Amino acid sequence: MPKAVRLPAAIRQLLGERASVRPKLLRWYRRHKRDLPWRGTGDPYVVWLTEIMLQQTRVDQGTPYITRFLEAFPDVHALARANESQVLKLWEGLGYYSRARNLHKTARTIADGLNGHFPETVEDWLQLPGVGRYTAGAIVSIAFDTPAPVVDGNVKRVIARLADLKQPVEGAAEEFVWRLMAHWAEGRAPGDFNQAVMELGAEVCTPRNPACPSCPLQEYCLAHARGTVAERPVRKKKAPVPHKEIVVGVIERRGRFLIGQRPAEGLLGGLWEFPGGKIEAGETHGAALAREIREELGLRAKVGEKIAEVTHAYSHFKVTLHVYRCAAPTGAPKPRVHTQLKWVRKAEFARYAFPKANHKFLNVV
Ligand code: SF4
Repeated sequence: MPKAVRLPAAIRQLLGERASVRPKLLRWYRRHKRDLPWRGTGDPYVVWLTEIMLQQTRVDQGTPYITRFLEAFPDVHALARANESQVLKLWEGLGYYSRARNLHKTARTIADGLNGHFPETVEDWLQLPGVGRYTAGAIVSIAFDTPAPVVDGNVKRVIARLADLKQPVEGAAEEFVWRLMAHWAEGRAPGDFNQAVMELGAEVCTPRNPACPSCPLQEYCLAHARGTVAERPVRKKKAPVPHKEIVVGVIERRGRFLIGQRPAEGLLGGLWEFPGGKIEAGETHGAALAREIREELGLRAKVGEKIAEVTHAYSHFKVTLHVYRCAAPTGAPKPRVHTQLKWVRKAEFARYAFPKANHKFLNVV
C-alpha cells in the first residue's frame, strides 16, 4: 500500500487491540471450532490440498472431495504420479478446474523439483501455480506456525463490520484489512488465529443475521455499536450476469457417442463434452448446431429431435443448453477445437470428467 494512504481511525484503533483480541478469539476458537476431518493436522500436503479445494467452495460441499482425494492420493508423490485425467475425474463437479490442473502441476514441482520438500515461506509459495496471497498465508501459518496474514471473504466481512468500513472491501480498503491481519497474526499460534477469524465469519458473523450476542469480539465492533451491521460490508454494484444460449449435439454411431476433450487451458479445461456451441444472432437451433458440428468436427450433421433443455449457472455467466440428437452417418470426425475425440458407450461415461451442465442431461442420452 502506498505510504501516502492513511489508515482509517477505526483500523488504527483495532491495530492497537491485538493483545486483547488475540487471546479472546483463540479461546473462543478452541471451544467452538467445527470438528472438520482435516483440522488439527500440520501436514503441509493436507493443508495445501484443503486450502486449494475449499477456494470458492462451501465446506460441506468440499469435504467429501477432500476425503476422496486424500484416499486416492495420500501424499504429494502419489498425486504427482497420477495422470491428469484421474485428477480431473476426482475433481469433477467441484468447478474452477484450473485449480485441479495447477494442484497437479505443483505436486510434480514439489515431488520432483524440490525432492518432496514443501516451501515454508509466503514468497516461495507464491512462485507456484495457482497459489495466491491468501493460500500462501494460510499454508505457512497453519502448517509451519509462521505469522502470515490471510484475507478471504469471511475475514473481509468480520473486519468491515468491526471497523464499520463505509466502502466496499477492495483496493485500498482491502489493503487496510491485510495490514490489520498481518499485525494481528503476529504472536503464538498464527495458524489457529487465522482460522479463528475465518471461523468467526463462517459461524457467527455470517452474511445475514449474524449472532452478535455470542460474538467474542462484540465489544470492539463499531458496526454493532452504531447499528450498521446489516449494511456492512458495503457491496459493490454487480454487473448483470451474461446468459449464453448453447446448442449441443448427441451423435451416435453403432451404440457409441462422440465426445471431445476441451483444451487444457481455459474454462472447464481438460473436461469432456458433447460437441456444440453458442447460437449466433438470428440463427435457428438447427442451423447453429449444424454449423458448430461442421466447424468443430468437419462433419455434415442432420439435426434431429430435441432431447433436453438444461440451465446452469457458472460463477460469471449462465448457460442454457439445448440438446439435440444428430445423425452424422459418414466421415471421420476431426478434432478442430478439442484436443481429442472419442466414441464411447453410455456405460463408459462415468470414466470421463464432464462439466456439471452436461451431467444434467446425461441420463436422457
Ligand atoms: Fe460480526 Fe456482530 Fe461480532 Fe460485530 S458483533 S463482529 S457484526 S458478529
